[in-house]
Amino acid sequence: MVNLKGKGRYLELEKIYFDHSATTPVHPAVAEEMVNFIRRDFGNPSSVHVFGRRARKAVEEAREKVAAALGALPEEIVFTAGGTESDNLAIRGVAYALKEKGNHIITSQIEHHAVLDTCKSLEKEGFSVTYLPVDECGLVDPKSVAAAITDQTILITVMHANNEVGTVLPVEELGRIAGERGVVFHCDAVQSFGKIPVRVGELNADLLSISAHKIYGPKGTGALYLKKGTPWRPLLFGGGQEMGRRPGTENVAGIVALGLAAELAVSEMPGEAERLLGLRERLIDGVLAKVKGSRLTGHRQRRLPNHASFVFEGVEGEALVLALDAHGIAASSGSACTSGNGHASHVLLAMGLAPQEARGSLRLTLGRENTGEDVDYFLEVLPGIVEKLRNIAVRVKFEWG
Ligand code: PLP
Repeated sequence: MVNLKGKGRYLELEKIYFDHSATTPVHPAVAEEMVNFIRRDFGNPSSVHVFGRRARKAVEEAREKVAAALGALPEEIVFTAGGTESDNLAIRGVAYALKEKGNHIITSQIEHHAVLDTCKSLEKEGFSVTYLPVDECGLVDPKSVAAAITDQTILITVMHANNEVGTVLPVEELGRIAGERGVVFHCDAVQSFGKIPVRVGELNADLLSISAHKIYGPKGTGALYLKKGTPWRPLLFGGGQEMGRRPGTENVAGIVALGLAAELAVSEMPGEAERLLGLRERLIDGVLAKVKGSRLTGHRQRRLPNHASFVFEGVEGEALVLALDAHGIAASSGSACTSGNGHASHVLLAMGLAPQEARGSLRLTLGRENTGEDVDYFLEVLPGIVEKLRNIAVRVKFEWG
């Protein structure tokens, strides 16, 4: 067994962390900056004295950094409390602004629950929602989007990259179709931002959601890109912060952290994406070669550079995650938000997997501190773990029927 000592530079834990799509450790430089804005520059950005002015300057500089990272204007960035809030604000804000024009929304069956459940709640309020199917790789067919648009369609919301299977969807094309038909386009880029280029102009997005904790920033901070002139209504009311679009005293430390994390992610992306891609390929090839009855989920090439996901025949994903944890490897079965509830993933079911197959899923998402040695150790222990779990499953079936 490989000596795990020294693994995880940020975590200072003797563990291998393969769950970066669930969350990432805060970058040391980002953490340091946050502490400054909690302890020293703690002012309220709305105050006119020096403490307030320093905080205001930091918030506006962070806005410029996020805007630059997305290819947007600073005034088009609204700071929020994370990806879930950004998705809610985007979808509800457009739906309420355009409800006199139409009541139809188009999305996909593999969206994160922040989008799916927002759409479901709008259905209860009289909106009608089309949940587009995906193919076996998790891709939405742009032709199906075009065909679903009616004269009632006001919004199309489709994710850039799927959190469970890593597939990168053709959102540029979807955004183009939406624009041509005069429909607002929102894109959930929570998983793609910081890993592959996300430029709002290239994606033809009118609104776009990002979250800090997926890019080595803190939890509970995110942003919504809201293109100038997009029909949209605020959902929160109060002190007028964020130009009235998301009032409430700003989370200055979180906002500063998001700005720096975004800047670092974009500047480090070219080299880091290539390094992670190499590790991902080693991981995928190794698993498929070493474990019989394993299958990659998601698209083989059109996937995030750090993302590998599989299903294993005759194995429960949850049991696999627990066994890996006991070997010092942190991974997940499906997304962090739905794992633990025992349901087969809606994403895998939409991709055509049988419920039993979908329950054997494992997601491994790599990050900054992972090395080739981590991948090799994982590949060394995985076949034995899978075999053991399969034997237990067979025994249970035999003894308990
Ligand atoms: N959208 C996607 C695709 C995600 O993967 C997540 C989180 O996993 C979210 C939205 C929610 O983001 P947050 O955790 O910042 O609320």
